[in-house]
Amino acid sequence: MSADAVTLTIWQRLTDPYRKILVAVGAAVLLLCVYELPVARLDLGFLLLGLITVVVSARVFVPIPRVNAAVTVSDTFIFLTLLLYGTEAAVALAAVEGICAGSRVSKRPLGILCNAGALVCATFLTGTLASSVFGQVTDFAHHQTSTFVSFICFLALAQYASHTFFGAIYVALKSSQPLFRTWAKHYLWSSITYFVGALLAGVIAKLTQSISFYSLIFPLPVIAIVYLSYRKYLEDVRSTAAKAEQAERERAEAERERAEAEHVRAEQAERHVEELNHYIAKLESAQSELSESKEHFRHAAYHDALTGLPNRLLFTDHLRLAIERTRRDPNYAFAVLFLDADRFKNINDSLGHSYGDQLLTEIARRLQDCTRQLDTVARFGGDEFALLLDGIGEPEDAVRVAHKIQQELLVPFDLNGHEAFTSASIGIALSGADYQHPEDVLRDADTAMYRAKDGGKARHELFDRAMHTRAVSMLRLENDLRRALEREEFRVHYQPILMLKTGELAGFEALVRWERPDRGLVSPAEFIPLAEETGMIVPLGLWVLEEACNQLRAWQLASPANRALTMSVNLSGKQLTQADVAEQVQDVLSRTGLDPRHLKLEITESVVMENAEAAAVVLARLRSLGVGLSIDDFGTGYSSLSYLHRFPVNALKVDRSFVSRMTSGDENLEIVRTIVTLARNLGMDVVAEGIETGEQLAQLKALKCDYGQGYFFAKPLDAPAAEDLLLTRALEASQHPTPSDQPDSAVTTFGSPLVM
Ligand code: C2E
Ligand code: MG
Ligand code: MG
Repeated sequence: MSADAVTLTIWQRLTDPYRKILVAVGAAVLLLCVYELPVARLDLGFLLLGLITVVVSARVFVPIPRVNAAVTVSDTFIFLTLLLYGTEAAVALAAVEGICAGSRVSKRPLGILCNAGALVCATFLTGTLASSVFGQVTDFAHHQTSTFVSFICFLALAQYASHTFFGAIYVALKSSQPLFRTWAKHYLWSSITYFVGALLAGVIAKLTQSISFYSLIFPLPVIAIVYLSYRKYLEDVRSTAAKAEQAERERAEAERERAEAEHVRAEQAERHVEELNHYIAKLESAQSELSESKEHFRHAAYHDALTGLPNRLLFTDHLRLAIERTRRDPNYAFAVLFLDADRFKNINDSLGHSYGDQLLTEIARRLQDCTRQLDTVARFGGDEFALLLDGIGEPEDAVRVAHKIQQELLVPFDLNGHEAFTSASIGIALSGADYQHPEDVLRDADTAMYRAKDGGKARHELFDRAMHTRAVSMLRLENDLRRALEREEFRVHYQPILMLKTGELAGFEALVRWERPDRGLVSPAEFIPLAEETGMIVPLGLWVLEEACNQLRAWQLASPANRALTMSVNLSGKQLTQADVAEQVQDVLSRTGLDPRHLKLEITESVVMENAEAAAVVLARLRSLGVGLSIDDFGTGYSSLSYLHRFPVNALKVDRSFVSRMTSGDENLEIVRTIVTLARNLGMDVVAEGIETGEQLAQLKALKCDYGQGYFFAKPLDAPAAEDLLLTRALEASQHPTPSDQPDSAVTTFGSPLVM
């Protein structure tokens, strides 16, 4: 609570003590006046005045607005009593009138008595002051008119000042307002009632000097009317003021409401603007999100996630545009390079996928370095990439780019400290071949790429029509191949293998043939690679194995002379990766009843060496069956000597390419000599392939090569022909028994071509 608030409370607390003092002083004054009342002078007129005062004052009073006080019209009668009967009588009447009037405006006794006390004191003061200035108040008859007017005014002023002063003190205390301001605000206006009352009293008093007091009773209604009119006037003024006040309040209220509504509207509008801004901002950000994710999805749909390069879809789009442009612009040309990383699988398998990913990313970067901004470099997946060289001048430009790429890929790749090497086989297709669809261009580039791979990898090939023809025929071949097994179109031919030292028949190599109804015998060179690629080789190889084992078993059973013969069967890389390859071989042996020692499985050197660790495991398993193992085409697959001795292999077959060129230069002879020495040191036999001349035979014999096969002795023979050979051999053996110390005679037997 503030100091001011405390002060206000103190003033208000003084209100009641003040009223009590006023009542007490009023009572004392009244008592004094009653004591000194000139009873002798009081007549019926006095009683009548008192009665009228009480009755009229109950009806005629002027309440002071907003304050619990009123100025009664009975003042006139009090003034009149003062003039006619003296101060004491006036005080007595004031006491009665004060109580009557007080009870009209207050219900509390203190309030009523206080009202009476104030009037008593004021009347007493007025009477006392007037008599001290003008002499006995009842002696007014002696005053000159001007003195009488002054006297009357004095009475009015004194009564007005004192009475309103007492009232103002009370209101000031109660409202804690300054006294003068309170008086001026609430009582200034009421002076008129006192002056009018005093004047009227003066006039009546004067009249009583010439006419009887009682005759004056009759004008009372006039007085009443005047008062009522005056009161009405006051009420009107008050109601007008109240109305004005009300109107002002209403106007202020309306103004306040309007301002409030305006404020609310402004706030709402502000909120709406804020919300709108918020929504606009949200909308803008949503749009940019939306467009970001759209862009993201668009990018993801058209790009390779690993390298960030365009994918096949985007590449095809660009290629389509390029094809369309060739139709409009005859001078425009493009090239598509289809690229496949060589040996990628090796790196991926040996170092792991994260290194594989790194390698692909680095390849992608190098490819971009080799091309221009307007070219498209795409990754199709795995280790396949495609390049669209847009607007090339001449075909050589494409070849130059392919060459540049190959040079670029020669630089070793640093994969987290691991040095890796790769190369690429690239197929090139040039525009101008009346291409209609991107797929056609890609197909041709792909074909050329396979040609490059077949040609020994790390090279590029330009697509030509012949390739397309070949590709188409390959497709046809694949379909035919699938049906050939069901239609039993495959045959096994047997090529004799001889012991070079004695010329004796050691056994046969089973070589598959495809007897196509429309084309006759087809060489395995034409369909084995495709059968490998398609996986067809697995059932085909198994069929050959069973057929060959069956055949040898049959020959062995047919003649004791055939019992020592062996059968060599080629096993493809695909077959070797079959988890149950050993079981399959075992099953065949069981089914055919062939002794495992008479079966030799040939595996091409490159197949063994490409996956040496795994091959060693499989070979060991096969070896444990008791079958013999030979490494075929030895010398072409870059054998690792460190691996070679770990393979449970019995024989090395020297590739035909070395044998055929043995006589043309020292180098090849030396290679064969080395292979023979190596095999000997490793405890293996050596078989020479493709012996076509007596000279070759002589050289191989000189090198002490163990076995040999070749057209010089016999071409691969069908089963009946091989049977004939066996019969002839048995016949010759029975006619010319060969002493073991005469090896040359045996050589004579097979010294010249048997079957061409
Ligand atoms: P290969 O296993 O090295 O078989 C030797 C190839 O050399 C055979 O060719 C044979 O006819 C040929 N040849 C033998 N002596 C001479 C000669 O003096 N001069 C010439 N020019 N060639 C000679 P072929 O029968 O055409 O077989 C080619 C290759 O096909 C085989 O090479 C072998 O790798 C594969 N092959 C044949 N049959 C099968 C089979 O049943 N399974 C598997 N996986 N591959 C087979
Ligand atoms: Mg072979
Ligand atoms: Mg071979």
